[in-house]
Formats: sequence, C-alpha cells, structure tokens
Amino acid sequence: MIKPLRAGGEVDSWCTKCKLVLNHRVIAMVGAQPVRVECSTCGSHHNFRARAPGEKAPSTGARSSAGSTSSGPRSVRGPTKAQQAVMDRERTWEKAIAGKGVHDFRQYRVHETFNEGDLIRHSKFGDGVVTRLLEGKKVEILFKDDARTLAHGLTD
Ligand SMILES: [Zn+2]
Repeated sequence: MIKPLRAGGEVDSWCTKCKLVLNHRVIAMVGAQPVRVECSTCGSHHNFRARAPGEKAPSTGARSSAGSTSSGPRSVRGPTKAQQAVMDRERTWEKAIAGKGVHDFRQYRVHETFNEGDLIRHSKFGDGVVTRLLEGKKVEILFKDDARTLAHGLTD
C-alpha cells in the first residue's frame, strides 16, 4: 500500500540542485500529485519531478496540467526524444529546401539515379532531399512529413 500524499508529507523527487532523486517534503499538491517540493537535503524549493531527467517514466497517468505560476528557475522540461527527432528532421528538411527554385528540383522517377543532396520533387510526397544512398538501388529521401526509402536507378 502506498500511503496517500499530502502537503507536508514526504516524497522522493528529483532535486534540481542536488541532481539526485532524494527525499523531499511536499509543499503543494494538485489533486493526488505533488507539484512543489522542498529538498530535505539542500532545502531548495522546486517543481516535483518523480525521476531524473531523461529517465523513462513507467507510464503513470497524466502529469499535472494545472496552470501553476512557477516562479522558480527555468523549467528543465524539454521536448521528448521523439519530438526532438521530428524537430531535427523538419529543420534538416527546411534547410535543404530553403531558397531553392523550381529548377533545383528533379522529378522523382524510379529510373533516375540520384545522389546525396539531390533535391527531389515527388508527385505524391512533395519536395524532398536525398539524405542517403542505400544498397540495392534505394535512396533515403527526406520529405517534409517523413523520411522515406525509395527506389532509384532501376533499369527495367
Ligand atoms: Zn537538494
């Protein structure tokens, strides 16, 4: 049994100062979730965080979405790895496409042979850039919404 938490109670939280998961005293709760805690080790006040940054959560319900007016130091919460990957991909794509004219793009056709960095116009997927040449007559092309592996240089 886990005893219910309440303000004044104790909880293990990531300490943003100590950089460790340590015992904390709960200062403020939203529902059954602690939101502000005080580190029993260094005495700093910060937002509750169940585990170290970057550590995977074992899917425990929704995080507090209550609009708390945090006056603490900058939030350490960043985008997830998946979100970061999407952002990186879009940035790469935008960089490759930015400022390019119609004539810089080649129409994608399976019989054409492409090289890394070639700009592609695909009838279905739109504008893309060749990011990698793969074995077996395949190229990886980065489109706005996703990277796709397509065939190229087919002789038949
Ligand atoms: Zn601390």
